[in-house]
Amino acid sequence: AGLEPAADSSSSKPKRNIAVMTSGGDAPGMNAVVYAVVRTAIFKGCKAFAVKEGYEGLVRGGPQYITEMEWQDVRGILSEGGTNIGTARCMSFRERPGRVQACKNMIDAGIDALIVCGGDGSLTGADKLRSEWPSLIKELRDNNQITEEQYIKHKQLNICGIVGSIDNDMATTDATVGAYSALARICKAVDYIDATANSHSRAFVVEVMGRNCGWLALMAGIATSADYIFIPEKPSSSKDWQDQMCEIVATHRAHGKRKTIVIVAEGAITSDLKHISSKEVKDVLVERLNLDTRVTTLGHVQRGGTPVVFDRILASLQGVEAVKAVLDCDENTPSPLIGLKEHKIVRRPLMEAVKITKSVADAIQTSDFEKAMALRDSEFIEHLNNFMAMNTADHKEPSLPLEKRRKIAIIHVGAPAGGMNSAVYAMATYCMSRGHKPYAIHNGFAGLARHESVRSIDWLSIENWMSIGGSEIGTNRSTPLDTDIGTIAHYFEKYQFDGLILVGGFEAFVSLKQLESARGMYPSFRIPMVLIPATISNNVPGTENSLGSDTCLNALVEYCDVLKQSASATRDRIFVVEVQGGNSGYIATYAALATGAQGSYVPEEGIDLSQLEADIRSLKEAFVLEKGRTKTGKLILKSTNASHVLTTQVLADIMKIEGNNEFDAKTAVPGHVQQGGLPSAIDRTRAARLAIKAVQFIEDAFPQILEHKYAVDFDVEDPSLAKTAVVLGAKSSHLRFFPIGRLYEYETELTKRMPKKIFWEETRYIADQLVGRTRISK
Ligand code: ATP
Repeated sequence: AGLEPAADSSSSKPKRNIAVMTSGGDAPGMNAVVYAVVRTAIFKGCKAFAVKEGYEGLVRGGPQYITEMEWQDVRGILSEGGTNIGTARCMSFRERPGRVQACKNMIDAGIDALIVCGGDGSLTGADKLRSEWPSLIKELRDNNQITEEQYIKHKQLNICGIVGSIDNDMATTDATVGAYSALARICKAVDYIDATANSHSRAFVVEVMGRNCGWLALMAGIATSADYIFIPEKPSSSKDWQDQMCEIVATHRAHGKRKTIVIVAEGAITSDLKHISSKEVKDVLVERLNLDTRVTTLGHVQRGGTPVVFDRILASLQGVEAVKAVLDCDENTPSPLIGLKEHKIVRRPLMEAVKITKSVADAIQTSDFEKAMALRDSEFIEHLNNFMAMNTADHKEPSLPLEKRRKIAIIHVGAPAGGMNSAVYAMATYCMSRGHKPYAIHNGFAGLARHESVRSIDWLSIENWMSIGGSEIGTNRSTPLDTDIGTIAHYFEKYQFDGLILVGGFEAFVSLKQLESARGMYPSFRIPMVLIPATISNNVPGTENSLGSDTCLNALVEYCDVLKQSASATRDRIFVVEVQGGNSGYIATYAALATGAQGSYVPEEGIDLSQLEADIRSLKEAFVLEKGRTKTGKLILKSTNASHVLTTQVLADIMKIEGNNEFDAKTAVPGHVQQGGLPSAIDRTRAARLAIKAVQFIEDAFPQILEHKYAVDFDVEDPSLAKTAVVLGAKSSHLRFFPIGRLYEYETELTKRMPKKIFWEETRYIADQLVGRTRISK
């Protein structure tokens, strides 16, 4: 979830009275928005208010519905699902008299800025309120409902939108608050269903939410390697869908698959706009394929539960940004929507986003599916193409001509990370769909050097790998030079590999560099090679996102939530939690933000004694202030390598002694639990995208290097060849291929096993700011 906040430009702006509201359907993460808005507003010297029950609260008004919020009022809500300030659908706000009343109530409460978290309806309402505001206040003044003084003071209303919706259906933002939590719930449910489907050799038709948007169904289809999906954006004709689905399902069954999963978006339709119900899908599977088939409609389960880490972080960073945005805006700035673009928090014009979103629905309703698809972001289309390639891998005629088909190997290097198996599944099925031959090198370079551990990948044997944790092909930390690089080259020659995909962390990075450097000596390494970064530490140069870091964060945060609950129940207790990550403070930083920990100590900063002293002082103050209240449990996160003198135990001991009788301190070490069990939905879908991109890279780069394969004067330094050994990284807002040579030389702190530049510094400040931690600068 390595999301990045935007830069702050709002500190010198006039103070405002900022209200936050949640509206429309509830979504996990809405509480985190409220938490972040309230605390950031207070931090910036503004007053914070919560509008209860959505627009209903604005129309009703009074302190019961428009309530001033203190810092403590949002304590502990970050991890809670739903929205504690309530949400509602409000008919009266749709009419002008309702909005006049809302305007009056806001002026009475002194509100001059409103942050709305909701779906497109809620944001349309917000923009309407703002555009009508001059006429609303004029009407109130003319009717003597407000004074001239109030009229002048409230001439400007600033509005800002954050999209809270599990459907992920808003244009111009890559993710809406709640969508990834809903996806996680769906994946968990399908994982459970998988076991029973497999046991009884059954088919399950799983219905998921999404009226005009197939994002949940598509992403769940990828993350659970479903056999077939129905989404509104890409309908089949009412005559064909049965044949198409049955052909794919029947082929999978013929190849030995014992279970069938079909995912249906609730808005699934045919190209002539007839609704496709789960029951119809079930009947077809029963009647045509004679499969024992059940329907599971997930319904509101998808909205429930605690937000996943991604949503907590997205909501927190967007809440912070929304406050900055309302402080930045003047009467001429169009209302902003806080969005996300390739991991960066951005501002977009709110009404434009709503307009494009509505036009998707209109396009679907007028059967203009091409337009509907074009209005979705490019990643959606990429995911859909990937899904279709992967799920027809075993039976369709491969798409490449014979002369373009390659032998491609995949290897895991380093510690296990969530998504490693998913990458093998996606790589292999995509290879099969193209006509390439996929191979797995088992047990890393050590396995290959010790004995011949190369196996071609068989479709049925990897059938469930998308959703399982660990590394099925085995992984270890040995690099080629740690073993016997000559033997490794020999096997590359023997199998005539045309391309290599490495999946792993820093050791994989070093391995790739070694293979590239050895190309002069061993022609069998003169093939395109791609590294997919996969490590919980997120310390691979060239990327801001490694596979496995999201799985790790979720495992850690789940663990921390339990600790916090226990600490709250016992009252007046703090847990010092030891966090993995080598020399990288990434996990500790983002886990601190996602759990509302009182602070985190990371290797990049070490533990400064005056900072520790300040932290203990503020803990004491907090515990005194909160005496006898609920949700008082607290956490401090400490990266193992933040200090080897001030160990987790020593820190807890110091805090306990200093805490005197005010509070108690204990340690907790989650250890390898942080590698996570099942990969998170984010790591699964990311693995699929990266693995397929890696295969595409090999396809493109192969001809460039082929002519050099047996050249006597092979030049390792040749820049065009350097581009054929790369790290596939997410950086500067895009997925890109970075030549390993340059990264290794210029961007790597080898002794620390870290990239030279880290990107989470600003996030550390935000995490601290949201818990009121004072930073002592050295
Ligand atoms: P979801 O995606 O969960 O449906 P939503 O925000 O789109 O969320 P809506 O029911 O469409 O949900 O809108 C929520 C509330 O926003 C409405 O009950 C109404 O009070 C207000 N609202 C919606 N559309 C408008 C509009 N065009 N003008 C004024 N207010 C509106």
